[in-house]
Amino acid sequence: TYDIHVIGGGLAGSEAAWQLAEAGFSVRLSEMRGSGDNTPAHHTDHLAELVCSNSFRSDDATSNAVGLIHEEMRTLGSVILAEGDRHRVPAGSALAVDRDGFSAGVTERLASHPRIEIVRERVDTLPDGPAIIATGPLTAASLSESIASETGKDALAFFDAIAPIVHRDSINMDVAWFQSRWNKGDGTDYINCPLDREQYDAFVAALIAGEKTEYREWENVPYFEGCMPIEVMAERGPQTLRFGPMKGVGLDDPRTGRWPYACVQLRQDNAAGTLWNIVGFQTKLKHAEQVRLFRTIPGLENAEFARLGGLHRNTFLRSPELLDPELRLKSRPNIRFAGQITGCEGYVESAAIGLLAGRFAAAELAGKKMLQPPAETALGALLGHITGAAVAETYQPMNVNFGLFPPIEGRTKKADRKRMYTDRARAALSTWLAA
Ligand code: FAD
Repeated sequence: TYDIHVIGGGLAGSEAAWQLAEAGFSVRLSEMRGSGDNTPAHHTDHLAELVCSNSFRSDDATSNAVGLIHEEMRTLGSVILAEGDRHRVPAGSALAVDRDGFSAGVTERLASHPRIEIVRERVDTLPDGPAIIATGPLTAASLSESIASETGKDALAFFDAIAPIVHRDSINMDVAWFQSRWNKGDGTDYINCPLDREQYDAFVAALIAGEKTEYREWENVPYFEGCMPIEVMAERGPQTLRFGPMKGVGLDDPRTGRWPYACVQLRQDNAAGTLWNIVGFQTKLKHAEQVRLFRTIPGLENAEFARLGGLHRNTFLRSPELLDPELRLKSRPNIRFAGQITGCEGYVESAAIGLLAGRFAAAELAGKKMLQPPAETALGALLGHITGAAVAETYQPMNVNFGLFPPIEGRTKKADRKRMYTDRARAALSTWLAA
């Protein structure tokens, strides 16, 4: 017997289970990986596996909304942030983690919690008792059908993209060099591969001409802005990549003493520093094309790939219409949803919504009502987007950003605005916690 059933041991489900257990409730955490099932993107049986980038993005709580939500989650005892901090790898002002250490750490924390029972099983129907569904963008088909028949709405499916990972010792450091843009960080956080104008133009043309994997059933699907395939970016215009993931500004090529015309950056992907991912290079190019094309990048001519880029399905609900402010399914309030399936975007956001779902559920089990997090906080702003603020018909996954926060009143200097958002959020969080 248990007090609540959490389904899906990803970023959101792990955090929700942790919050409930810490509040004194017993949790059955069902995860299908490890029982013979898998998703198209996961590679291990660990809980909270990171399926693509190893970054939790900016850790700057004074001028960045995701850095702010990190801080709020730490304050609320997040297990995802605690393990993220414990397995940090160098990444300038970002929080990036050793992916295996991180997810093994989360698994260990949950497995050793006396009130959490991890059960390796796939769940195919919505439970009758209290439950949190956190099965993510790659929810198993059987459960998706069960959700769709309950909600009466089709969950949207579309593709997202994975960036390739390169073995460090196959990078030619006579051409490439270590440096963070504008010399932020300690100087060894990024490896840079410079392209001159001719090389860049040829690369962009080859990307556009390159052979792509076709996914006819889901053609014309919207991409996440932060995870758009490079060839799709290249198609938007010849300069798009130079102002995106191939920016050369702020990087001093030691061979010329100048900024390169364009630059490909790689970021450390594991604690040992043996694997590096090509930043922003998600792609649906065929694998052989990727190897051929990425080896035309100076410094990567002999690159060995630990993993090539790819594309995957993504499932999410029309939450603003279907969920109440506490993330309960309006038609069946014993069921809460959490994580990316609610239509937030990103590891951190998924975990943040898991944290809130866990806390709302814990309050309900205790016969209490939890105050809504204020809209001025990052948690409140993100929750508000999911459960109310967004237009249901055009609802799209969203990262946390200051655009979701109530605007700052009165005339302000642009330079001061981010600081005003974060100061206001910190004050609002303190007041909320005190209440
Ligand atoms: P998940 O972490 O996917 O967890 C869901 C869990 O539920 C999985 O472990 C799954 O095995 C399990 N499950 C599914 N169905 C069932 C069932 N019926 N019964 C039992 N268990 C089940 N975000 C970023 O911030 N950065 C990125 O680089 C990034 N890249 C992405 C790349 C891809 C290919 C995808 C699909 C998403 C990416 N995301 C990225 C988005 C997203 O934030 C992550 O997918 C994140 O892991 C979502 O957290 P979650 O807890 O909602 O889902």
